[in-house]
Parts: sequence; structure tokens; C-alpha cells
Amino acid sequence: MTDASTTFDALGEHILAGGRATEEDALAVLRSADEDLLHVVAAASRLRRAHFGCTVKVNYLVNLRSGMCPENCNYCSQALGSDAPILTYSWLTTEQALEQATAGMRGGASRVCMVSSGRGPSERDVDRVAGMVGALKETDPEVEVCACLGLLKDGQAERLRAAGVDAYNHNINTAESHHEQIVQTHSYADRVETITRAKGAGLSPCSGLIAGLGESDEQLVEALFALRGLDSDSIPVNFLIPFDGTPFEGHWELTPAACVRILAMARFVCPDREVRIAGGREMHLRSLQGLALHVANSIFLGDYLTSEGQAAEDDLRLIRDNGFVVLGSDEERAESAATPEIRRRGAGTEVPANA
Ligand code: SF4
Repeated sequence: MTDASTTFDALGEHILAGGRATEEDALAVLRSADEDLLHVVAAASRLRRAHFGCTVKVNYLVNLRSGMCPENCNYCSQALGSDAPILTYSWLTTEQALEQATAGMRGGASRVCMVSSGRGPSERDVDRVAGMVGALKETDPEVEVCACLGLLKDGQAERLRAAGVDAYNHNINTAESHHEQIVQTHSYADRVETITRAKGAGLSPCSGLIAGLGESDEQLVEALFALRGLDSDSIPVNFLIPFDGTPFEGHWELTPAACVRILAMARFVCPDREVRIAGGREMHLRSLQGLALHVANSIFLGDYLTSEGQAAEDDLRLIRDNGFVVLGSDEERAESAATPEIRRRGAGTEVPANA
């Protein structure tokens, strides 16, 4: 048994017994060596299984309004000044929103995340979203709805709650000490205020971060502890998607193993909270997506707000192949029998091999 095995195992035991991870523990996880990754995952996965068993929560994003945002979050393809060639459109109609949400629910999503670009909703926007949520809940009263509409003004959280919204997403994105580096049109305090308003209105707070924005390890830890302090029920962990046409174009600072360590840190710091692998999952975790599921317990199905994710069926296969089940489904764990494809390329043929 190595030292790392003992260290992370002991940390897991301590947390399982009701203890809390310290900032030093979190830093040690982030700075652990690649060769110790499995020890980190083994310990974090005990916490994951203690609180969430073998379930994976599947969430589905509907981008209700895309692009044209007046804010300058410099990681965002929808921001003021972004030249990213994304889809831009104004509000979907209720029918269009419903159609998109239903596709996600058919794919196994138990939560639909209704998102719009912009600094924050007008009163009319709140009415519009309230109508969509009402229609969605009529289709399926069990579906959870999370709204993500930007900074909330007085009374808007209460109106969303009354309309049937279950949760409100507003990410802190990064540490307070790094926030001004990534956006200047609103403050960290503005973000915290919205999360507090949502929680105060009885909405489940969903707030997370984006890793890979040039923050230090200490700042990642700072952000995670801030989320713990804010009592975020769901913690989406995004990995920067460096869109062309944004200030972060071509910026890559994460490895797949580092991403797993970040997720594991989130699990150690917030053991009983939904840790969601969010944007950038496929391009950053790559072949470690399965390993990451042993630590995180939630993913988005299919596409993101402005970029494409892997096919929904690949997401579901990822879940099954790693021995997990979709939360709320009664699906069998075993993959349905796949028919072997007879090789008709490479040796013995005139067709090039697929190597
Ligand atoms: S407020 Fe939201 S949509 Fe607008 S730039 Fe920031 S992250 Fe993007």
C-alpha cells in the first residue's frame, strides 16, 4: 500500500464518518500525482456511492435565447465582443421549448435546464419562462425544472418558484479573487446575491464553476469552498471550452487527469452534493469520462448551449458501461446485445485498415 493510498483512503474515511475536508486536503487532491489518480478516485468514489449509489442524474439543456448578451464574461461564446460563430436567436416559443425539452426527457433526463443569455430577465421574460414551465409540468409533473436566466431582481425568484421552477442555476464560475479577470460588467457579489435570492425563494441552488480560466490551484479551492458556504445543492463543474473568437481562443491548461482530480476535490469538499460533469466533458476528460463518473454523479445529455456534445446514446452507453444507471429509470444495467460487425476492411481486402 502506498502513502497516497493511505492518505486519500483516510481522508475518505474521515469524511464518511462525518468529518469535513479542509482547504489543505483539497489542495493535496488537486496536486496529487497522476500515478496516484486511482487512489484519489477510489476514495472519492466511496463518498459518491455512499450518497448516490450507482445512479447518474441526467440533465438536459434548452437554450431559450442564444447569443447577443451585453455582458462580457470572457469565457463565453455568447458574450459581448465574442466573434464565435455560434447560433444566435431570440426567445424560443413555448412550443419550441417544449419540443426541445421533451427530446431530452425521452433520452432519460430527469431535469430540464431552461437557459437564456443575458444579464438577467425582464418581468416579461419571467412571464414567458413561467408559461413554458407550466406547459412542461403539464406534460410531465415529475420533471425537475432548473431556470438559468442571469441575475435576478427583487421578487423574480419567488415568481419562478410559484410557476413551478424547482431550481435556479447561477454559477459563481471562479474564485472571488479571480472574478475580475474574467468579467467586468458584473461583480462576484452580484452573482452571490442571485444565488442567495434563489435559495431564499425556496429554489434549489445550483451553482458551480469553470476550471481552466487561468486560476491557481488555491483559487479552485477557494471557489469550491465558496460553493460549500453557499450551500449549493448541485455543483456543475465546467471545463473551459476555448471558443475561437473569444479571449480564451486556443487556451488549454487542463489534462484529463487534472479534470478528474478537480471533480474528486469537489466530491471530497461537498460529499453529499450533486457534482455534475458539465461543459467541456468530452474534449477535456476524453477517455477518462468513465473514470470521472465514479466521482461525479450527474451529467448533461447531448449538446451544450452553443457547442455540440457527444451523441445522447453515447452518453447513456457511458453510464451503463461503467456500471451505473440513469436516476429515475428502471433500465437494466446490461447493454442490449450488440451485433458484431463483420470486418470488411484491412488485411485480406482492398479497403484500407481503420488504424
Ligand atoms: S451573462 Fe451568461 S450568456 Fe452573458 S456573457 Fe455571461 S455567461 Fe455568457
